[in-house]
Amino acid sequence: MPRIKRDYHPNAKRDSIPTRGSAAERGYDRTWRKFAAHWLTQEPLCRICKQRVVSAGALVDHIVPLRASGARLSKDNVQTLCRSCHKIKTDGDMRHWPATSP
Ligand SMILES: [Zn+2]
Repeated sequence: MPRIKRDYHPNAKRDSIPTRGSAAERGYDRTWRKFAAHWLTQEPLCRICKQRVVSAGALVDHIVPLRASGARLSKDNVQTLCRSCHKIKTDGDMRHWPATSP
């Protein structure tokens, strides 16, 4: 049986959208990662669907996005979301606070 060769696309688009800046430029730096890791020990469940999420797959979401002047390192402005709920929430954020707004 022949081995299945994995496709490799060196020029494939990456996840990040250039106009949004890098993760660090958007405020997701080392301080944030430490804060987020600690937060996940406090709230390990997705706040929306209440499914248990393992920390590796969980996302610490800013309730009010940083681009809408939400607090970056405040426990009042973060929530744990699983990946699917985070996507739904982010899509809603984009409508409320389009990335192009100041
Ligand atoms: Zn969820």
